[in-house]
Amino acid sequence: MIRKGNDKPFDLGTKVEVLVGSELRHGIIRWIDNVPGSNPGKIMAAIEFKDEPDLQNTDEVYNELKHFNIKLNRACYGDSETFIQPNITSKDDSLLRINDDNLSQSENLIVKGIVKPICVEDGLENICGKYRGIQGHHNSCYLDATLFCMFAFTSVFDNLLFRPPTEKDCAQYEQVQRVLREDIVNPLRKNVFVHANSVMKLRTLLEKLSSVSGLTSEEKDPEEFLTSLVAQILNAEPFLKLSSGQDAYHYQLFVEKDDHLNLPTVQQLLEQSFLTSNIRLKEVPSCLIIQMPRFGKSYKMYSKIQPTLLLDVTDIIEDSPRQCTICGKLAEYECKECYGQRGLGLESIAFCTSCLDQVHRHERRTNHASTKLNVPTEFKILQDHCPVPRLFLELSAVVCIETSHYVSFVKCGSGSEAPWCFFDSMADRKGEQNGFNIPEMVSCPDFPYWLSEDGAKKAESTDDRQLPEYAKRLLCDAYMCMYQSSDVMMYK
Ligand SMILES: [Zn+2]
Ligand SMILES: [Zn+2]
Repeated sequence: MIRKGNDKPFDLGTKVEVLVGSELRHGIIRWIDNVPGSNPGKIMAAIEFKDEPDLQNTDEVYNELKHFNIKLNRACYGDSETFIQPNITSKDDSLLRINDDNLSQSENLIVKGIVKPICVEDGLENICGKYRGIQGHHNSCYLDATLFCMFAFTSVFDNLLFRPPTEKDCAQYEQVQRVLREDIVNPLRKNVFVHANSVMKLRTLLEKLSSVSGLTSEEKDPEEFLTSLVAQILNAEPFLKLSSGQDAYHYQLFVEKDDHLNLPTVQQLLEQSFLTSNIRLKEVPSCLIIQMPRFGKSYKMYSKIQPTLLLDVTDIIEDSPRQCTICGKLAEYECKECYGQRGLGLESIAFCTSCLDQVHRHERRTNHASTKLNVPTEFKILQDHCPVPRLFLELSAVVCIETSHYVSFVKCGSGSEAPWCFFDSMADRKGEQNGFNIPEMVSCPDFPYWLSEDGAKKAESTDDRQLPEYAKRLLCDAYMCMYQSSDVMMYK
């Protein structure tokens, strides 16, 4: 967003007036960036003119602008001194220039340096609308939706952008990292717009350097993209360390269908999955990417799933202090056979010594085999003075799939008050074969309601087809939920 003094911000999509010679012309800002090689803060913008007579010298400009499908002769570059919002008259037209030498190819879309995640303090509505987010192209939605979730409003994955190379990394490591950072993430955060050409740069590299094929053209899934980019090429430290000794970048829920569950929550499914697999996480992860029990568009176990806003992971972390399900004191044993008998979820299998004895005196439970928990010694000493802490992760994004198209719901900031938006990289389209997609961001004020208990009741008693559009997509189409620990944000 450009600010000119204390005036209203100039922004993509802003209607402006430009003096060309002595004529005032009307247009819309379609592209904004720094002027390469100029002082910081000097901003250039491309303006699309509507129904205006031909401008001279625009042929070279056309190549840079064809991604917006701006017709030849109807576009120009200007800087922030030369275009103004309607009803303000510019006095000085000397700075307006038709630029033909310093903006070669897509280099003008690059944003160098470190750019913090988008901040919505001025209101989410101000940055929503069309031409917002990452522009989709050639089945890229799996990647657009995932990248938007990972980088637009959170820094939890920023290590990927900045980790220096080591000798273990591939020769193109820095190139891929730079394209991700300067062609995609920085422009997304600074201009709230990423051109499809920039994404294609990354896709071409992924296709060439990873074992996943079809990344530049075919329909793919977010986890294939994560495997290609994060695991294979960027060679990132795995986000999850499992008690089985394995590492992982995301967690696939593995559950048997429970016919009594109409609208399971991610919390319920996660606990069930960890109980079944009998593994734990070795430590609290900074991010937890959970894949719903479904396979792409072809199969889903539950018709609706409610993502949990605040995920309690206390009982899935190995050796973290837990509470006795009966008295709430520090638990020292667990009995899997008691699952769900007293209390819900994984909490229901943890007992203190005396409650364990008492429960298992019952004749139906005398043959239960319990296991001793490993409680950190420091905590044992302190247990009478401090309550057992519970560990939470906050939901930061949900990637959804409808037929074979991926979109996402993303929390714009951290904390429970942050607003949510919906992002679709192919929300609209102009033109046929040679046309282009228009990405869009939409504010979703109802999001927290549909993830509340009231929302769940409403959703359970409503036919899926009668649900409001975004609620339906959120609950029926959830594919992947991203959680983050608010303690590990980089820029706080
Ligand atoms: Zn107890
Ligand atoms: Zn038991």
